[in-house]
Amino acid sequence: MHTIDQIYIDGAFVTPHGEEWFDLFNPATERVIGRVRLADAKDARDAIAAAKRAFPAFSRTSKRARIDMLKRMHAAVVAKEDELYEAIVEEYGAPVSRGRWMAQHASNVLSEAAKVLEQYELTRHAGTAEVVMQPLGVAGLITPWNSNAGFICGKLAAALAAGCTTGITPSEMSALQTQIVTRALHEADLPPGVFNIVTGRGESGGAQISSHPDVAKISFTGSTAVGKTILRTGADTLKRVTLELGGKSPTVVLDDADFEQVVPLVINAGFMNSGQACIAGTRILVPRRRLAEFEARVRDEVARARSGDPRDPATTIGPMVSQKQWERVQRYIGIGIDEGARLIAGGEGRPAGLDAGWFVRPTVFSDVTNDMTIAREEIFGPVLSIIAYDDTEQAISIANDTNYGLQAYVFSQDKARAHQVASRLEAGRVLVNTLAHEPAAPFGGFKQSGIGREYGVYGIEAFLEPKALLGVL
Ligand code: NAD
Repeated sequence: MHTIDQIYIDGAFVTPHGEEWFDLFNPATERVIGRVRLADAKDARDAIAAAKRAFPAFSRTSKRARIDMLKRMHAAVVAKEDELYEAIVEEYGAPVSRGRWMAQHASNVLSEAAKVLEQYELTRHAGTAEVVMQPLGVAGLITPWNSNAGFICGKLAAALAAGCTTGITPSEMSALQTQIVTRALHEADLPPGVFNIVTGRGESGGAQISSHPDVAKISFTGSTAVGKTILRTGADTLKRVTLELGGKSPTVVLDDADFEQVVPLVINAGFMNSGQACIAGTRILVPRRRLAEFEARVRDEVARARSGDPRDPATTIGPMVSQKQWERVQRYIGIGIDEGARLIAGGEGRPAGLDAGWFVRPTVFSDVTNDMTIAREEIFGPVLSIIAYDDTEQAISIANDTNYGLQAYVFSQDKARAHQVASRLEAGRVLVNTLAHEPAAPFGGFKQSGIGREYGVYGIEAFLEPKALLGVL
């Protein structure tokens, strides 16, 4: 049993003022594996106050000093990679390969930010003016449970690279990962108050951070509904916001695609992170004249997917993070059936042979139309919709007919044609014939998938404001 009874404020581990305890579960067994004492609104205020005290000195540190800090943070998180991996598997249920990627991603984002800062000009000229890219102030960083360590490190890396100080409220469901990351960052020997981490409920800690007048910037990753609340709350003090929200990403399979190669990638894009990924390709657009052929290959591919013990290397799909999430996914599978979509794989209930754990049957519907609930709403589980189209124009129009616009995928043997289609899709990232990640490229959403961008230069600039000085040159 893990007991987590400390938060991190002003360079020290302290007992929270909040007194509520929250149970942590292993989603693969449904057993309680620990307890965390939650921070409350006062703890969040203390975190902001510490960040505010630290800001004047930190914002004036040199670029060199900040690069060195990021490198120390990177080394400290690398040193905890195995521990972090264990926590990700235990409290989140990520299968082996995904869990390892997530554990490494947490340190990679720190070294990437150091690299970007090396090349970044904080002072430039515009006509007769000197333009200084100045840190915004205290930044509030709010992270979800589905890749908590990576989000804490990624947002923190960009904020510190820019010279901001931070108050961080991670999801209460990922307290094990948060504790390991916090210990690692503590060992990186940063000035007190530069980062403060208070795990608590969003409605108290997160809400405090998004309304507090001393917070200049919010960087939030989570659901679109909470993102809108944060935007409204932050409006009173005109906070700058970066919102990384939900998705309903289209996967456009063009009519010349080689299904043998493409279907494994399509299924992988849909079921990534056990379906609990904002970028999952959940609407699969397939040429109607090749639908039967595509469905046959999907059935074979899904039959090869394995749900179960995350520690078994053969497992490709882990459990849903919580009972609530499991019930939500079940509800959507029921809605798909009621709306007349045709199940070609999976369905309601648990996968055969699994009586415990919040496992969902990997599920694919066909005969889905783009107006059905399962094609419009983010399910956040391994539930995919195949939508048939008649020609490429219609495919593009269906792909763009969504409130979201985070990521899209295009598959074709003709790269130039795929490129053309990709250029017409309304999404922050479009992956053509690949599932690869590019840390230097911007990441973020069009429409209700968010505001602003993370990663690379774009991520750091989200924490900077240009200031023009005239008459100084
Ligand atoms: P969530 O919105 O419920 O919670 C996210 C975070 O916000 C948590 O830390 C929570 O405690 C906090 N929060 C809740 N209410 C708040 C409030 N009123 N004020 C401030 N903070 C509050 O999301 P979740 O269920 O943890 O994560 C899943 C969602 O995140 C999905 O919709 C997914 O698409 C999205 N997501 C987006 C990205 C992206 O980069 N675009 C990445 C991962 C997840």
